[in-house]
Amino acid sequence: MINPLDILHWLHEEDQKRLEELWQWADTVRRENVGDEVHLRGLIEISNHCIRQCGYCGLRFGNQELERYRMSEEEIMACVGEAERYGYGTVVLQSGEDYGIETKWFANLIRHIKGETQLAVTLSLGERPDEDLETWRKAGADRYLLRFETSDETLYHLIHPPLPGRKSNRLAILKALKKRGYETGSGVMIGIPGQTYASLARDIDLFHKLDLDMIGVGPYLPHPQTPLGQGEWKQVISKDEQVPNTEQMTYKVIALTRMVCPEANIPSTTALATINREQGRELGLMRGANVVMPNLTPPKYRAMYEIYPSKACMKENPRDFHHSLQHRIRSLGRRIGKGRGDRIHQVRSKPPHPATDRNLLDLFEKNENNKLRGSKIFR
Ligand code: SAM
Repeated sequence: MINPLDILHWLHEEDQKRLEELWQWADTVRRENVGDEVHLRGLIEISNHCIRQCGYCGLRFGNQELERYRMSEEEIMACVGEAERYGYGTVVLQSGEDYGIETKWFANLIRHIKGETQLAVTLSLGERPDEDLETWRKAGADRYLLRFETSDETLYHLIHPPLPGRKSNRLAILKALKKRGYETGSGVMIGIPGQTYASLARDIDLFHKLDLDMIGVGPYLPHPQTPLGQGEWKQVISKDEQVPNTEQMTYKVIALTRMVCPEANIPSTTALATINREQGRELGLMRGANVVMPNLTPPKYRAMYEIYPSKACMKENPRDFHHSLQHRIRSLGRRIGKGRGDRIHQVRSKPPHPATDRNLLDLFEKNENNKLRGSKIFR
């Protein structure tokens, strides 16, 4: 049982013996709830065009140095074929928020994939209007990923400016996705400048409240062609309160996420593999994760999908990566998942997470962190 204040304490924990207990606890909860299978989702980065001006992301509209691409149906179908050959159960189609990806064209693409394969189709195309989400669901899309990035509203609006005349409310979109029958995924970046421990604890608590089917978390990695990467847009908080964007903090968040959402599919992400190329993916899998997303984007486009520099997958060849991944998963005593790897719903007599008490965190902030209240914002 873990409440928001416990989450906060674990985020501050630095004692390696205690952390070892956390890893083992998360690994046990993972095994008991989603088993030893590691589900593989083939990631296809179909376009790097983006209308947004997110302060953290290299795909932002304002990044003039990025060469842009949009894949054709034939190119995407070739990658889908590759996913099938490797036995993956899902393809994830991801892009910037690109309205050059037309609603009808994309619905036909989804129908094409669903007509020719048994694959589950996951979408990650940003904050598209509800009509698009409905059309694509009807065309057969199974899942949608949309990270809420941070539950700190002030920080969110600072780093994620809205489009003119349109509010950005990712939590409302997540609810709408659920209503439409999508399996719904979200997540956050860890160590965003201005992100406090208390707000990260709230993020993890929110994963539970939203009853997410998939949760992706990874370290924030600065991109030099972005306002955050250049240290420009700032929510000023005290040094003690700033969450570090470290490997260890990422494992803590993965482990705690597993505790509050025992049945969720949780990937060991590329961003984690980027900060520890040797072992990041494996350690993520040993500390709560049960999904890996091998990158199937054609090499000529991969370098252009630069959300942050030096992405781990940049030089990975799909075939070599697949073979080494199989070996690495087996050496952890795990096995590759069969089928689509949908979310498992366990039958429970009572919820695994106690009624969470936001007041606990508020009290903590009031007593221990007066500095927070003096925070300022610069953009
Ligand atoms: N456009 C879609 C969206 O915004 O959901 C999907 C693509 S977007 C590039 C996917 C995710 O990349 C974002 O949700 C964000 O968490 C992550 N990301 C972007 N820039 C990042 C950075 N500098 N460091 C770490 N993760 C980043």
